[in-house]
Amino acid sequence: MNCYGVTKLEWFRVMPPTRETIIQHLKDKGLKITPQRLAIIDVLVEKGDLHPTASFIHEEAKKKDNKLSLSTTYATLNEFSRRGILRMLQFDRMENRFERNPEEHINLICERCGKIIDYKLPAAFNQNEVADNTGFLITDSRLEYYGYCGSCIHDKRHGRHS
Ligand SMILES: [Zn+2]
Repeated sequence: MNCYGVTKLEWFRVMPPTRETIIQHLKDKGLKITPQRLAIIDVLVEKGDLHPTASFIHEEAKKKDNKLSLSTTYATLNEFSRRGILRMLQFDRMENRFERNPEEHINLICERCGKIIDYKLPAAFNQNEVADNTGFLITDSRLEYYGYCGSCIHDKRHGRHS
């Protein structure tokens, strides 16, 4: 434990937004809270750390609201992305994924299994400082590290293929 009350291994965890925060966000943007949207929000709260695809979100949300169609799911996710409630991550070699964490962080992307792990930026890294030092107006950023996650490295070492 350090003086902030967190163990060394935990400080990098990104705190996800709660269900209430997301609902408030929708209200602030003037979006209606429909049962379909709530089902999607619940999936984002429960499984958002997976950085899920639209089809995964649809499959999971359908368990909560069986009338939810894939096209409504796509439309909702697009709307949420446009309004800044979510972020769509597009990739060359894999399906689009959805990011629920608005806080600036690094996405660690496994090139073998496609897992995406959030890594909180150290406090010493300050985007405003970058802007101040360069006079550059930052409008967007996407921080990604590519490589292999711990379990893929382990599988590789033990000759498992998937
Ligand atoms: Zn992320």
